[in-house]
Amino acid sequence: MKKINEEFYSSKIEILEDYLKLHNPNDLSATEISNDLGMDNKKEVIIDVKELLSYDSDMVSFIASHSQDAIRLFEIAINNIVGSSKVEIRFINMPNTYKKPIWKIRSKDVGKFYFFEGYIRRVSEVKHKPRLKVYECPQCGNHITVLQLNGPKAPTKCGCGRKGKFRLISKEVYNFQKVILEEDTSEQGNETEPAKKMVLLKEGLADPFITNKLKLSYKVRVYGSIGEMVINEKDDEYITYIEANNLEFLGDSFSINILSPTCIAKIKDIVESDKDILTNMANSIAPSLHGLYNIKKAIMLSIIGSNHTYENKVLIERGNVHILLIGSPGGGKSAIMQNVNNLIPGSRYASGSTASGVGLVATVQKDELLGGWSLFPGAIPLSNKSIILLDELDKISSEDMGYLNQALDKLEVQVDKAMIHTKLQSDTTVIAAANPKHNLNKDLVDRFDLVFATPNISKGEHSKVLDKIFGRFLSGDNSGRIYSEELIRHYVLYAKTIKPRLTEEAHQYLKEEYTKILDPKGLDEGVFLSNRIVPSIIRLTIAAARSRFSKEATVEDAKTSIGLLKESLMSIDVLKNGVFDAVTYERVVPTKSIGKAELILKMIGELDTGMGAEYNKLESVLKDKGIDEFELDKLLSALSNEGSILIPRTGFYRLL
Ligand SMILES: [Zn+2]
Repeated sequence: MKKINEEFYSSKIEILEDYLKLHNPNDLSATEISNDLGMDNKKEVIIDVKELLSYDSDMVSFIASHSQDAIRLFEIAINNIVGSSKVEIRFINMPNTYKKPIWKIRSKDVGKFYFFEGYIRRVSEVKHKPRLKVYECPQCGNHITVLQLNGPKAPTKCGCGRKGKFRLISKEVYNFQKVILEEDTSEQGNETEPAKKMVLLKEGLADPFITNKLKLSYKVRVYGSIGEMVINEKDDEYITYIEANNLEFLGDSFSINILSPTCIAKIKDIVESDKDILTNMANSIAPSLHGLYNIKKAIMLSIIGSNHTYENKVLIERGNVHILLIGSPGGGKSAIMQNVNNLIPGSRYASGSTASGVGLVATVQKDELLGGWSLFPGAIPLSNKSIILLDELDKISSEDMGYLNQALDKLEVQVDKAMIHTKLQSDTTVIAAANPKHNLNKDLVDRFDLVFATPNISKGEHSKVLDKIFGRFLSGDNSGRIYSEELIRHYVLYAKTIKPRLTEEAHQYLKEEYTKILDPKGLDEGVFLSNRIVPSIIRLTIAAARSRFSKEATVEDAKTSIGLLKESLMSIDVLKNGVFDAVTYERVVPTKSIGKAELILKMIGELDTGMGAEYNKLESVLKDKGIDEFELDKLLSALSNEGSILIPRTGFYRLL
């Protein structure tokens, strides 16, 4: 203990005795403490720092600057009251001024006490270490106790005068484990890789009860002091770590706990007064991107999701709504994905091409912070209970593909790599994007509830957008509401707590419409198709009910669901003129026509000599590429209608 004024000590101890008698009388029950608990089972005494602040504010600053001494004072005070100090003092509820962002920790903070918040990213094994060792002198039989403070230590001589080796007869140990805490990106902005820090949990904090709760992607609040340790003995280099004093579990990234009652009341009011809540919330995603409204609506339902169905604690049907967007780069899908990533707590953006070499599910790597080899969870388990925005799905490795199939349906993945065999939770909603030029694995595509082809934002689209913006000024139309990101977050958090029931009418409606889509003429052709669409439309219906904060999923919700299904099937050419194309559906080589339209636009650009591209030349070039005259005519008129091309005179085409 540091040399601090004796008077200060004894006055503080007296104050603490009074404080403890007043605020922690139950913790001090003498019988419990004086029971022979053994060093592993010390009794916890929890000190509410905010309470202490109003009692003795000096003591709180003393904790922050000299936590070890402060703990010692508490122990002495407790010993004075009950005659035993077999306690572990834990602090909780510190004022916000003591919150320390992980990325701001520097050497000057070493020894100081703060609290920290972040997600658990890796967890080491539980190990143990001697606190003290007892040796016996072979000459006189004397027992010598040696504290094991900084590394192993043995006695060199005995009181009887003997020097040399002594026999180890017993040791007293404590358990510890290490976790990696990762800062929430919202704490430091999205630009950088989130800061990480090793947290040492020892004694009671390595209790099985705590270890069992250390789940990846859980958010925790850690109270503790900042320590330093050598990482490179030769160059005398150090890193900081957090020695935990207490741990609070804040739940999943998507935890309702952050909403105050006033907050909830406000959202309920909004949902009640906005009859078009789903549309308006959906259109608030990437609001500067006009168009793609159905896709935005589908994504909003995906964010909200449905409930998982369990039977005897076994997952029968997932509630996650997975969405796949297929389109060329720059088609607006990246803007939507980026916006969702910024919007949703705990979400992650990852690319199937994984430039960094880190797998989607897990890798085994040498662990500099925890020592030895560790399992580094990939982007999917790290976004457990939240959303992964997975770009370039067509580029993922075959290994990841297998894992992804498991993750999408089973909500956990079995990892068997090197010496590590474990299950990782992956209750993660997947919003993926892929390039249309590549064929996707059918098994994988089947696991998405909705697949949309995203159109290119052509010049024609841009002029339509401009018209719309001017139109709004001209007519004064401001019918659509745009909600703030914070409001959307709160809305989604609350919507996710609702557990709607599917009404009989909605059930009937879904059944009829589903049959009509698959088999409009009643020819029974759709019968042999897999029924994988059914759980998807139910999920979407439940999510639609949640979007209205309704405990009943009605025909109205079923209509939303069927509407999106039809849009999705039409966009990938599976539903044409109301006829279900089973062949295309089974092949799922999505939307050839989008690729063809692109090709036509490209050829028009190349063949344009200043007067426009000639029809005959276009036809002969495109015939070689598999577009016949009939299809060319159809696409040319479509492109002209949407304003992507001009017809300066008959038989000539120009890009707009
Ligand atoms: Zn001796």
